[in-house]
This record gives sequence, C-alpha cells and structure tokens, in this order.
Amino acid sequence: MHSDSFSIGVVGAGFSGALLAVHLLHRCRPGDRVYLIEKRAGFGRGLAYSTVNQNHLLNVRAGNMSAFQDRPDHFVEWLRRQRSESSDPPVDSDSFVSRRLYGTYVRSLLCDELWSGGKGTNLYLVPDQGVALHEAPDGVSLVVAGGRCYRLDAVVFAAGNMPPDRNEGAYFGNPWDPAAIAGIPKHSPVLLIGTGLTMVDIVLSLLDAQHRGPIRAISRRGLLPQVHRTARPLDLAAWDLPRTTSITRLAHWVRSRVREAAADGWDWRSVVDGLRPHLQDLWRRLSLEERRRFLRHLRPWWDVHRHRMAPVVAEQIQAAMTRGQLSIGACRVVDMAPSDSQVRITLRPRHGDVETAEYARVINCSGPETDYRACDDPLINDLLRRGFARPDPLGLGLQVSEQGALLSSDGKASSRLFALGPVTRGSFWEIVAVPDIRMHCARLAAYLETSVRERNRAEPSVRRQRGIISSPPEERLANAVPPLLRPTAKGA
Ligand SMILES: Cc1cc2nc3c(=O)[nH]c(=O)nc-3n(C[C@H](O)[C@H](O)[C@H](O)COP(=O)(O)OP(=O)(O)OC[C@H]3O[C@@H](n4cnc5c(N)ncnc54)[C@H](O)[C@@H]3O)c2cc1C
Repeated sequence: MHSDSFSIGVVGAGFSGALLAVHLLHRCRPGDRVYLIEKRAGFGRGLAYSTVNQNHLLNVRAGNMSAFQDRPDHFVEWLRRQRSESSDPPVDSDSFVSRRLYGTYVRSLLCDELWSGGKGTNLYLVPDQGVALHEAPDGVSLVVAGGRCYRLDAVVFAAGNMPPDRNEGAYFGNPWDPAAIAGIPKHSPVLLIGTGLTMVDIVLSLLDAQHRGPIRAISRRGLLPQVHRTARPLDLAAWDLPRTTSITRLAHWVRSRVREAAADGWDWRSVVDGLRPHLQDLWRRLSLEERRRFLRHLRPWWDVHRHRMAPVVAEQIQAAMTRGQLSIGACRVVDMAPSDSQVRITLRPRHGDVETAEYARVINCSGPETDYRACDDPLINDLLRRGFARPDPLGLGLQVSEQGALLSSDGKASSRLFALGPVTRGSFWEIVAVPDIRMHCARLAAYLETSVRERNRAEPSVRRQRGIISSPPEERLANAVPPLLRPTAKGA
C-alpha cells in the first residue's frame, strides 16, 4: 500500500453515491479503497430508480440524463446499445424512458468500472445501514447496523431523498412503500395529498392496478406540474442576470424575461431551462429571509414549471381528469382520523366550506422528507446529536460548504465529512436532479482524491489502521458481486 492511498466511505448508493464511487474508482490506484454502503436491496438505484412500474418515466429527456457532463451522449448511446438487441422502439435524446431502465444504467456504470476498468479490488460493497459516525483528527469511524466499524479517511453522506415514514392504518405517509397502493377496493375513493410528480406516479400506479374508483388529489394551491415541450434553453450568461438579491425583483425579472422571450417566439420553458445553470449561484446569494420568502410564496409556482411531466404521462393524467376519475383541487387538511379500513378526513377548500369525508386510502404525495430535525434516521440523528452536522435552518437537509463539506454545529467545515445530492439542497437548492448532481460528483471525487492523498503523505504517522476494525471478515467485492451487483436483465 502506498503512503498516500485512500479509504473513502460513501453512505448511500443511489445515483449520487454510485456515481461518486465511479469517479473515485477512476482515480483509484492499487491499495485504495472505496466503501459503498447501502441499506436497501440493490446498489445504484436509490429511491428514484427502484420503481418496478415501467410507466414511471424519467421527468428529464434522455439527452440530459448522461451520468457524465463531458459525455452528454453517454446515456443515449447506452440506450441504443440496449435497444439494438431488442424489439423495443428506438430512442433518441428527446425520449422519456422508464426510471427502472435508468437504474439499470447506473448499475451498469459500477459494473463497467469492475469488469472493464479492472477496479474490482478497490470497491467494497457493504449491504448495510450506516448508523453512527465519529470524526477524529486521524480519521472517521463509521458504524453500520450489523455492528461493524469501518475506519476511513473520509466519508461522504449521500443518503438522498428520505421517504416520510409515518404510516397509520389506511393512511400512508410513505408513498414509495409498495403497500401504499396495495389492497385498495377497486371502486373506493382514494385521496392523495400533494399534486406534484409524486402524485402523478401514484395515479399511474393506481390506474395500472385497474383502480376504478374516484381519485382526488389536493394541495394548498392545487397546481399540477406543467408538461415538457421541445424548447431549447435560452443561452443566458451570468451577466444577463440581475445582480439583485431580492426574490421579488428576481421574480419580476423572470416574468419580464418570459414576456420578452414570448415576443421573440420562445417558449417560457426556454427561460426556465436557461436559468438552471445559474440557480445554485442565485440561491447562494440569497439571504436566509429571502430564501424563506421564496419557499413560502413562490416555490409552488416555481416547482410546477421546473419539474415537468413527460408528454405521454400528461396525456394519461389528462384522460383520467376528462373521464371524471381524477380531480385536482386546492384544499388544506384540517383533521384526519385513520382506521385500518379507511381514513376520515376534514378538508378546508380554498374556495368553499369545510367538508368531511371517508376515503379507503389516503396517501401522502407531498415529496421526500427534507427536514432532518424531524426525521427518524439513526445516522442523521447521530450526526446532529454529536454536532458533526447541522440542519439547514429552513428544513432543507444538512448545511454544507461550497465544497460539500458538512458544517458542524458551530459552523466549521469538516475536512473529513462531506455530503452530496439532495441532502445539500439547503445550500445549493438546484441539486436534486441528475444534471446537477453529476457535476458535484465529479468535482467532489477530484477534491477528495487530492486532499486525502496530500494529507496522508504529509502525516503518515497519523494514518493508523484503515478498513474494517471490528468483527468478521469483510465482503470483498470479488466474492460479493453475484448477489449484490449482478448486471440485471435488460430493462429489469
Ligand atoms: C420518485 C423520484 C423520481 C425522480 N425522477 C427523476 C428524474 O426523472 N430525473 C432526475 O434527474 N431526477 C429525478 N429525481 C431526483 C433524484 O433526487 C435524483 O435523480 C437522484 O436519484 C438522487 O440520488 P441520491 O442517490 O442522492 O438519492 P436516492 O435515490 O434517494 O438514494 C439514496 C440512497 O441512500 C440510501 N441510504 C440512506 N441512508 C442510508 C444509510 N444510513 N445507510 C445506508 N444507505 C442509506 C438509501 O437507501 C438510498 O438508496 C427523482 C426523485 C424521486 C424521489
């Protein structure tokens, strides 16, 4: 082993953790170790790409879903290779393919590193849940639920989208729990709380399960996501944007830019997509109070324009609305009493009188839990309790530095603990989708390699044992590949 070899742990193997591991493996030399720790069955899918429903499509065109920013055609080329061996219809960069298939792509990236890249001896897959972390000057100890403790140079927290976890009787707080849509009497009414893309997924799942009863979806404003249309992003440079840090003035600017663009024959989508590369900078410039105002007043409108439905999905939603099976409305939940067979719920419509009704199932579709102060995850609780991390004050994950280092309770950036992906939403805002996460993965891998190697060279005496320091022999990937990362059947 070289004096500067590294051992880096990545907690969470969804898109963020898996892609970071791929970038780290690219940089590995013999003796380097990347530990990828995942609590759910299967590495590389995460919450977003684990769905088994083939009608759950990506909400981004294939042409924007390459895992590598500098190889924009990577995903489309992978898709073409898959399709050339099958009778499925051809795809191009404008296609919206299934999320299941995208998960298979992410897994194939890890497989490529192992089989073609020869990095099998550098990767350690740990099918377990990270439950505690301790940062000391000479390294980080990561404890997993199975009881093992790993001693590492650095750990990246890529735990992604936390499903809300409160289910009670016929009320499902977690819409991604497969039980959420199981066992509903076919003709009974269902209520969905939330009208965004999660609601859209659940409606599709209910329709696929031949649900015939009424489906009502509610949110405070009752806004439905807009639909994708072919529209090239406007080429906006940083100096085209106003220097203001007022969210009201920014909103005025966006509206007037949309009007100007429309006068020149451009679609509003071109303005929204053209703004996207600048959103992290814009967000970081805003004060806490301005961010709060955005969340309170503008977010619902921004979200439905920014997170759009694939046209074929929109057609199914529209058809369900036209035949009167699906209704979307603006309501607040006043009271809810779940029992095993139904939920009695009182709603206050935005325009109208308070109403009480019974639903066979109520499913929360308001999106992942982002307020880590309220969540039940042992690792997050441990990080917060020990002061190794601090929650975003607006309930948007954990606070990080520009580099992605976790900020401790006293605001100091860690040199060994990092976070990646949606966990860092409070610091970057536009960091929940592939086109943004992939940039951070590449950047963080480069930073970690350089900084860890430099430190290990400078302080060889500090480097004590690395790897597993307690309990039975670890699963080397070479032995563990078949069950953990077996390439799946096409599209499976
Ligand atoms: C339903 C849904 C659909 C989406 N669709 C798209 C899309 O079409 N296009 C797009 O660009 N973006 C989409 N997104 C955005 C999504 O956030 C990103 O694309 C990306 O999947 C985020 O990956 P992640 O690895 O950060 O998070 P996740 O996918 O949530 O993965 C995190 C992983 O960490 C694991 N984990 C958490 N805690 C621990 C622990 N303590 N120990 C071990 N493992 C742990 C979890 O089990 C999970 O597998 C979607 C998001 C959702 C929720």
